[in-house]
Amino acid sequence: MSAKSDVPSKTDSILVIGAGIFGLSTAIHLAERGHPNVTLLDKQPYEKTLYSYANGCDAASADINKIIRSAYGSQKIYQTLSLEAIDTWNTWTQELRRGGSAVPPGMTSQDDLWINNGDLSCTDMDDLSEQEKATIRSMESAGYRDTQLINNNSRHLRLATEKGFGSNMQPFGKAVLGVLDTTGGVAFADKACRFALHKAQKFSVSVLPMGRRTEPR
Ligand SMILES: Cc1cc2nc3c(=O)[nH]c(=O)nc-3n(C[C@H](O)[C@H](O)[C@H](O)COP(=O)(O)OP(=O)(O)OC[C@H]3O[C@@H](n4cnc5c(N)ncnc54)[C@H](O)[C@@H]3O)c2cc1C
Repeated sequence: MSAKSDVPSKTDSILVIGAGIFGLSTAIHLAERGHPNVTLLDKQPYEKTLYSYANGCDAASADINKIIRSAYGSQKIYQTLSLEAIDTWNTWTQELRRGGSAVPPGMTSQDDLWINNGDLSCTDMDDLSEQEKATIRSMESAGYRDTQLINNNSRHLRLATEKGFGSNMQPFGKAVLGVLDTTGGVAFADKACRFALHKAQKFSVSVLPMGRRTEPR
């Protein structure tokens, strides 16, 4: 690392410890920004265990699925990050669909990294919470009007049907008040990590033999 700056120069060697989704994402972004000497290390042998919880992977990122949502009340920073991330989820899906070298070992071009089936938040109260109301205002002010659909509003129910979310508005036997964040859905966490690891390697990120642990000194 250069002596006078905390910002790594292009020739610096960078070691990213931890190949969960944040380490993977960091390595990919560094490589995309032109850093040729990025190395990833993890104590888990992910190339063998494939980020599978069933194979003993205990990292937060190694899971079957995770919720994706942009509904964060008035916390616009999370909303913005989520909307940006959803664009990337779609870009990654398009890359995977193109097949060829984009497909990680053991996966196919038809695998899903995420599904945009919405995220329904319900309440047993008669009115939506202030958090939900704040989300609707924040999304509208960011230009995402009619992405948060309330399941007792006839116009929203019609919109949900038009957008293909009709059956997700009231999925329970009994009617419960809720709002469907139509930007959200579910990520297949293990497959997403496998895709990201493969993408990092295609960018020439070196991956040290996984299963190596760094110990604090
Ligand atoms: C139960 C649960 C449910 C969640 N649900 C959601 C959800 O629905 N939606 C959502 O958006 N977020 C959810 N999250 C949060 C999300 O999973 C995390 O924010 C994210 O996965 C964190 O990624 P990470 O890369 O920072 O950490 P991790 O995925 O934990 O990765 C850290 C990596 O570092 C490695 N490591 C640690 N120590 C060492 C060491 N000494 N040497 C070498 N390697 C090391 C670990 O093996 C691991 O691979 C959930 C989290 C949990 C725990």
